[in-house]
Amino acid sequence: MAARTNSGKTKRAAPAGDGYVIEARAVSKSYDSGKLTVDALRGIDLKVKRGEVVSVMGPSGCGKTTLLNCLSGLDDVTAGNVIIEGKDIARLDDDTRTDFRARRMGFVFQAYNLMPVLTAAENVELPLLLGDVSPSKARAKAHEALETMALLKWKDHKPAEMSGGQQQRVAIARALVNDPAILWADEPTGNLDTPNALKVIDLLLGVGRSRHQTIVLVTHDPKVGARADRVVMMDSGRILGEEKGDSARGPPPALKRSDATDSS
Ligand code: ADP
Ligand code: MG
Repeated sequence: MAARTNSGKTKRAAPAGDGYVIEARAVSKSYDSGKLTVDALRGIDLKVKRGEVVSVMGPSGCGKTTLLNCLSGLDDVTAGNVIIEGKDIARLDDDTRTDFRARRMGFVFQAYNLMPVLTAAENVELPLLLGDVSPSKARAKAHEALETMALLKWKDHKPAEMSGGQQQRVAIARALVNDPAILWADEPTGNLDTPNALKVIDLLLGVGRSRHQTIVLVTHDPKVGARADRVVMMDSGRILGEEKGDSARGPPPALKRSDATDSS
């Protein structure tokens, strides 16, 4: 919708620097547990533009989660720099970094991490209530976010009453309710069968693309990974190369499909 695109553009002014929203420069990360050191990332260089959807693929243990955690500032790097929207996140103090994450980033994980005693709407409005949004506005925004995930009918249901795919869509609605500039997703479809995985990913990417959000998606499912604009291949803590996703090869299937779902 035009109104949504326009407001998205006004809100997210171009970042300082060379226009990349995410920039990793020679990032290394080692885990040191006394007798054993694991070099989880070994010199990662990666640049992501505003509005780009990038998937990160590679075998289990190759460093995908570590990369996501280091790029989003959830974890510290051992060497190198991570620049997000022109800011070197290692130079931010803890409070500023936490605030930056809360305002600018959304997260989706493999485990849906919903609060079991809360309804879908209550789960989605939680991040807004933890900020300074009034309860009535939070409820309205939660309903809006659930609607983008084709879940408004389920707003009063608790997680246990919903399927895995529906629960993950609630978690995505919660991640998107703040209209984050950057969305990080770590194996968001890891617990779903392929038809559900593709439905969830198409909804997620449909909303993200319509809002010009930057999305980094970790997945080991090639069908899910191919929905991105760009697929980055990792192994043993390094980037081996990258290829274009489906959307860069032809018309965006994700957008078409999610539009169809939303209007049904
Ligand atoms: P992936 O997400 O690709 O499966 P991870 O980023 O989780 O891989 O892990 C990369 C490597 O770092 C693995 O060898 C893993 O065992 C190791 N690792 C991850 N987290 C920790 C940690 N907190 N402490 C020690 N080693 C870790
Ligand atoms: Mg992982």
